This record gives sequence, C-alpha cells and structure tokens, in this order.
Amino acid sequence: TMRESYASENDSGFKCLKPDLRPIVVVGGHGQLGGLFCRLFELSGYTVRKLGSQDWERADELLSDAGMVVVSVPINLTEQVIRKLDHLPEDCILADLTSVKSGPLQAMLEVHPGPVVGLHPMFGPDIASLAKQVVAYCDGRNPERYQWLLEQFQIWGASLNRISAVEHDEGMTLIQALRHFTSFAYGVHLAEEDPKLEQLLALSSPIYRLELAMVGRLFAQDAQLYADIIMSSPQNLAMIKRFHRRFGEAIAMLEGKDKAAFKQAFGQVESWFGDYAQHFLTESQGLLRQANDATHR
Ligand code: NAD
Repeated sequence: TMRESYASENDSGFKCLKPDLRPIVVVGGHGQLGGLFCRLFELSGYTVRKLGSQDWERADELLSDAGMVVVSVPINLTEQVIRKLDHLPEDCILADLTSVKSGPLQAMLEVHPGPVVGLHPMFGPDIASLAKQVVAYCDGRNPERYQWLLEQFQIWGASLNRISAVEHDEGMTLIQALRHFTSFAYGVHLAEEDPKLEQLLALSSPIYRLELAMVGRLFAQDAQLYADIIMSSPQNLAMIKRFHRRFGEAIAMLEGKDKAAFKQAFGQVESWFGDYAQHFLTESQGLLRQANDATHR
C-alpha cells in the first residue's frame, strides 16, 4: 500500500533536495511536532540542530551559520521567541509550524529581512508518515528561495495548500477553535452528568459511538495546546459567542414548543447545505459501515 511504501522509504531515508543547505535549527526541536520534523529532515540527510528552552545562552553559536530556522514552540510563546531571532544570516530561511498564522508570520517578517514562510502541518505528531497529510503554507518573503522546502514536504508524501494568513486563521476559527471548544464543553457536560460510559456505549448506534470518540480523543491530548488554539484570537471568542447565542435561541424554540419555527430553521439549514446534505448522508453511511465493521471485529 501507499502507507507501507512511505514507511519503508522512511527506513532507508528520503531524497535530499538541498544537499548544500547549511544546518537547520529547529527552535523547540525537543517537542512533539518539532521532533517529528527533526527526524524527517535527518532522514533526508540534512544537518539538524535543536534549540531548546535551555539553549538560549549558546543561541548565537547555534544560529550563526543556520541555513534555515524552524520555530516550533508552544503557541503562546511563539511571537516572543521569533522576536529573539534578529541576527540570522541574511539568506537564512525563517519558518514556523504554529497552528495560527497571522501573528507569527508578521513577527517573522519584522524580525528577519530574508526569506520567510509560515507553515501549518494539519496533523499531530502521532502520524506514522506524511502520506496524504496536508501542510498549509503562507508565503512571507522571497518564495523562490524556499520552493525546494515545499517540494521536500511533497517527497515526504504531504500535499500542500497555499493560503493567506488571514484566510487561514478565519478558517481555523471554525475548523479548530469552535470545534474543539464544543468538544470541550460536551466533555465537561458528560463528566458532570457522570453517566456510565460502558452503558452509554452499549446503547449507542455507531454514529453516537463515533461522536463520543471524536469528543473523547480530545482529552487524550495536550490541554495546553488546545487552550492556546481556542484562545489564540479574539475572533475565536466572538465566533464561540455567536454559537452560544444561537444555541440559546434554539432552546427558546424548545421552551415555546415551537415546532413550526424548528421546521423552518431546519429547512433553512437544509437549503444552505444544498447538494452536500444528501452527499453527506451517503458518505456517512459508508463511513459508519466501516466503523461498525472495525468495532465488531
Ligand atoms: P510541545 O510542547 O511538544 O513542544 C514545544 C517545545 O518548545 C518543547 O520542547 C518546549 O520545551 C520548547 N520550548 C518552550 N519554550 C521555548 C523557548 N523559549 N525556546 C526554545 N524552545 C522552547 O508542543 P507541540 O505540540 O510540538 O507544538 C509546537 C508547535 O507546533 C505549536 O506552535 C503548535 O501550534 C504546532 N502544532 C502542533 C500540532 C500538534 O498536534 N501537536 C499540530 C500542528 C501544529
């Protein structure tokens, strides 16, 4: 399979597109995502150095001959860490892996006069390979200088998605912040209601089991990362508040036993989804059949 062929390529190493690149310094390289990229760069034959939180005393030494610097520190520290990178070699590429893009990209452009690119790998550190994974990127400055990097990601199996930092962050407000927050709130609700999870699962149809899994998996991950993602911008809070308001309006409909209003709203959403509503019904039937097979194996 595709996955296996990428995994075996991993063992033997990947083609190196920029063999003459000076060392790559990954700031936060001992962390989860930074560590993953360090391994991938090393497997491709690049010289990799890690600049951890205790290493700033020798930062000048680590950075003086860097060919590329990749920032991968906790979101809330990202911009202050970027601001320390004001003495990089002029031709050094400055990049980051942060889940939000506008602030870090702006900070990188301000601190470094050379090539700059913002990256957002749309996956966590637990993946087996980059096959079919998406990396979103935001052009910063001198894109011709880092085209090889984007091609290197493609060699690792990733597909690339170019987007402006503003559009990226707007999309992430819905795709990440609101979604993670509703999972968080549902998790808090479940924990307080304290139902017997085994019994719930025994009563669950596959779709509910899947929904529960989507919520439960959040709490197997890093609280700090999700707090940072959800609280990364005021527009996230504004979006969550609009959702909260609509939730309240829908409850008022229930309190008024207003089935006509419910049906009218239902129809509006149905027409907003358009052809996708039917498409999603069919698609989810297929996914549920697979999930059902997997859990009863
Ligand atoms: P992490 O906590 O595992 O790693 C962060 C690393 O940065 C740690 O090793 C920490 O010691 C180090 N660090 C902290 N302060 C530092 C400093 N001042 N100087 C140098 N190093 C410092 O976090 P992570 O999950 O790997 O996330 C890192 C970045 O990757 C974040 O910007 C996050 O948005 C992004 N990201 C993470 C995921 C994910 O699922 N984990 C997915 C996409 C993007």
